[in-house]
Amino acid sequence: MLCPICDKKFEATSPTAAMPFCSERCRTIDLSRWLGERYSLPRLPDPEDEELPPEVVGDTAPRAGP
Ligand SMILES: [Zn+2]
Repeated sequence: MLCPICDKKFEATSPTAAMPFCSERCRTIDLSRWLGERYSLPRLPDPEDEELPPEVVGDTAPRAGP
């Protein structure tokens, strides 16, 4: 088999939990990549979120009306 992570050819002698990756390490890499993409999605700049983030506003002064 060919590992989709490191493109290394490996023998799939016995089915392991790491399949279809060559090792548990590559399986974890793929998982973290996948999770990283998912987690990064909500962090993308939102068109409706052009105001200052609450953490910045709250750090300087409470949001008092004009
Ligand atoms: Zn691999």
